[in-house]
Amino acid sequence: MKRRTLIKAIPLSLLAVAGGASVWRDHDISKVAAIVNKDAGYDQHINLNDLLGEDLFVKDNLEKPEQQQVVELSDIILEGKDFEYLKSVAVHLKRVQHQVGYTNFNLLGFDEMIKLGRNFSSVGKFTQAELDLFEYVFSADAKAYGFFGDKVIDNITDIVPRRDTKKIGRTGHYLFKGESMEKYKRIRKDVGDSLILTSGIRSVVKQTYLFLSKAIETNGNLSQASFSLAPPGHSYHGIGDFDVGKVGYGYKNFTADFSHTDEYKRLTDLGYVAIRYVNNNPFGVRFEPWHIKVV
Ligand SMILES: [Zn+2]
Repeated sequence: MKRRTLIKAIPLSLLAVAGGASVWRDHDISKVAAIVNKDAGYDQHINLNDLLGEDLFVKDNLEKPEQQQVVELSDIILEGKDFEYLKSVAVHLKRVQHQVGYTNFNLLGFDEMIKLGRNFSSVGKFTQAELDLFEYVFSADAKAYGFFGDKVIDNITDIVPRRDTKKIGRTGHYLFKGESMEKYKRIRKDVGDSLILTSGIRSVVKQTYLFLSKAIETNGNLSQASFSLAPPGHSYHGIGDFDVGKVGYGYKNFTADFSHTDEYKRLTDLGYVAIRYVNNNPFGVRFEPWHIKVV
């Protein structure tokens, strides 16, 4: 357990508190993309738009910032070398996703990820620094950076048993057999085919990828990132919840715009919207009208 010992030593150097004077600026994606390109080293072809654009879930703020956020004094921010490692892991995970495919990546486990890195030169071996960053983000106390939801996955190596899942055609996502699957079927039957699964099961690896991608957008500010995305281990997508959206509505499915659609109205009228993260919820998570609570 040498790595665990290392992790314990990391947080102090990783945790930097905002100076207070800096105010949140508009996302300057091209600038950040240039940094990622420069630092990626091993692959100049990956840019940040590829990194973020493929997943609608992280695309929302990119195209339409929900709100201007101000860096709070208490915000936890990864800076300097730590931010470099954060970006490096995100880019590395992008390569893993490219290797296994978008759909499979949703279920990929931590150990499988490491193995893929070892076995495919197109992915490349994960460095100790990258694994340390990954483990830090998983094991850090999310409450420290303002996320108060439960931890629902205990171990970084926990896997999603494939036999318990079902691939949902043409969505690129999976659902758990049983309650999740039944609920999704019922919703589609009642609301109609214009409602579709937009994000299903997300493994620790997938959630980490989304969270780190969001944290790149927030310049390493984990507190701000956790407002839009549950930190790894804290997402109910890992144990049964899922997201739905309107067919053809794109990234807007992950914005408040979704709550103005007929599909959303039908969902609420039929009583499906026992939303996990209601407006002004105590968990430090944004309002998510698209998220269906199962667990
Ligand atoms: Zn969700």
